[in-house]
Amino acid sequence: MNYYGEHVTKLIEELGRLPGIGGRSAQRLAFHILNMPKENAQALADSIMQAREKVKYCSRCFNLTDTDPCPICSSSRRNPNQIMVVESPRDMAAYEKTNDFNGVYHVLHGLISPMDGVSPEDIRIRELINRINDKTEEVILATASTIEGDTTAMYIARLIKPLGVKVSRIAKGVPVGGELEYVDQITLAQALKSRLEV
Ligand code: ZN
Repeated sequence: MNYYGEHVTKLIEELGRLPGIGGRSAQRLAFHILNMPKENAQALADSIMQAREKVKYCSRCFNLTDTDPCPICSSSRRNPNQIMVVESPRDMAAYEKTNDFNGVYHVLHGLISPMDGVSPEDIRIRELINRINDKTEEVILATASTIEGDTTAMYIARLIKPLGVKVSRIAKGVPVGGELEYVDQITLAQALKSRLEV
């Protein structure tokens, strides 16, 4: 099976571990990399290692960042008392692109999913509760309208309501079962604007 020699086979194997990359895509990427000018291949390898070594989680919102706190948490133009809860850094980026939200984020890094063995302790829910204080004006639950997204939103709402903080859920403008990062910005901005208190 080792048609290409040890090093190419290893490269195909490593690329094939990436999400969404099947065997055929891994081969295509491997041959593309082998045909790159050497300095481009070096730049790719360097950027992978630098991102891996330098990027950390913001200690407030758990977004990926080079600096702690992250640029959003440390910006004086953002309202630190309005917290939008999202599943992933990619969803945060999708909301940022709408230019319609002036608060801060909390990145859960996953959703509650008993089917996949993900329980509330496995995602950053405790850290969210710890961030809430008497200055907190609103917590916006902006997870997707999937079973996992709704379950997670309801779970968090039940924890936060007794603290006397306003909790809202983005409107169903987001297509049911839709992944937030693929939803267009206008739909996302609309879903945010027509959020409902829960
Ligand atoms: Zn942050």
